[in-house]
Amino acid sequence: MTQSTLDLFDVKARAPDKPFFNVYEAVAKRKLNAPAEWEWYALDGRTYQATGDTIVEGGVRARDARNRKTWKGVVGQKCVVTQAEVEAMRAEFEQTTGKCVECAGCGETLAGSSVETGPRYRTCRKCGGSGRASLPDNA
Ligand SMILES: [Zn+2]
Repeated sequence: MTQSTLDLFDVKARAPDKPFFNVYEAVAKRKLNAPAEWEWYALDGRTYQATGDTIVEGGVRARDARNRKTWKGVVGQKCVVTQAEVEAMRAEFEQTTGKCVECAGCGETLAGSSVETGPRYRTCRKCGGSGRASLPDNA
């Protein structure tokens, strides 16, 4: 399987207008040469706490009889993601997309969530709400 850079930087939406970039998933996908549909389902930073590395585990979800996505019967893959790889991927995202990596360009980040009110958002602190990538000098 091959993948394009754009597959890696596809942002997912928490809500229709609130995308986010999952940097751990993107690093793992690249290292595993995984297809665009690959999704993480577990992060484990405990084993490698001393180094800051994280184990990312995921796979490509199957479809059940009703064509819904399911993890049932899926054999996962694990991959170690280092902090250096995370930082490099964050920088690459901004250089490639021109968008702020923190808010994936929408200008807001998740501030919290509750059952009563649902998710709350606040202006992104990294880009000040512009959604634009910061220049290396301003980072
Ligand atoms: Zn931002």
